[in-house]
Amino acid sequence: MDTLLGKTLAELQEAALSVGLQKFAGKQLAEWIYVRRVADIDEMTNISLKGREALKAHYTVGRHAPVREAVSADGTRKYLFEIPHSLSPITNNKSAVEGRGEAFVETVYIPENERATLCVSSQVGCKMGCRFCMTGALGFHGHLSAAEILNQIFEIDRLAAADGRATLSNIVLMGEGEPMDNLDNVLRALTILTASYACAWSPKRITVSTVGIPAMRRFLEESECHLAVSLHNPFPSERAQIMPAEKIMSITQVVELLRQYDWSHQRRVSFEYICWHGTDESREGRPVPNDTLRHAKELVRLLHGLECRVNLIRFHAGVEQVTANSLNERRFPGSDERQMEWLRDYLTEKGITTTIRRSRGEDILAACGMLVNSLETH
Ligand code: SF4
Repeated sequence: MDTLLGKTLAELQEAALSVGLQKFAGKQLAEWIYVRRVADIDEMTNISLKGREALKAHYTVGRHAPVREAVSADGTRKYLFEIPHSLSPITNNKSAVEGRGEAFVETVYIPENERATLCVSSQVGCKMGCRFCMTGALGFHGHLSAAEILNQIFEIDRLAAADGRATLSNIVLMGEGEPMDNLDNVLRALTILTASYACAWSPKRITVSTVGIPAMRRFLEESECHLAVSLHNPFPSERAQIMPAEKIMSITQVVELLRQYDWSHQRRVSFEYICWHGTDESREGRPVPNDTLRHAKELVRLLHGLECRVNLIRFHAGVEQVTANSLNERRFPGSDERQMEWLRDYLTEKGITTTIRRSRGEDILAACGMLVNSLETH
């Protein structure tokens, strides 16, 4: 059965006509689904009983609550959603409930004083295979529909409001998956989030991440949301060792493309930079370090003149352990605080706004690169 969630106004008008309702009922549907956010067609009381029955014969709203929740000591919450229409059942890890074959996806709620950010997934697993990422180690198991993307947002916002916690002030598509690899569904979800007939969010409250693949050009053209690029190493040959996507589109090409757009006003581009420690001499048999003076200089050269921000991210011990185990390869030691502060100060002094991002939810495997749909951590 089709879902109403994820449909644009024009599509809701078509859906209304298709079940014998007037075209204007499409606007009523949008109001019920996106503004009042009902979960059941029976709640749409300004649509006739007969009309609701006709709708129910073909559609559901498409909302469903998360099946698990884990709460971190720092207040971060990780939710596990079951994807009802199994995309490609995950069978190579604990994500699969024995014999049922559903797919699962994780979403992370990060409160900060009166505000809260939601880290949303766009795919089940991921194709990009970044060697430091636990989601990447899962492999790819399917695209999420726009309805599944929106459902994560609506459900967590609902739960936060019901508990008296901060409702969502920002959304980042930085959970499982590469958003640009599922761009039709991501753009559709963003359209609905920002449309005046639907959620009417400012695109400035939404950030979409990418490793940098050619599809990002379309995102840059068709969306006004912020962009976060996973950089992690300014040297293409070194970046390729940890990010296979570098071979599809080099970081130099990514930055060249970004230079064609205006980032000096409302829209922002940021670069995510997980810090690994080491010296160039220790490279043999060691992970690729990226916190040296050589890297800092190259970062300045690469980003010179581009209006942007760099977010330095501490590498989590948990990811280090799991990636080392699951990939049976070299460990990735994270940089220490002192080295990260040095890198931050170096880049800032050279005119690149740089911050060290505080890690959240590590104890429940909810931090960056830790989402693995594991029922054990919920
Ligand atoms: S870091 Fe992002 S793009 Fe890379 S494998 Fe993980 S989820 Fe995919």
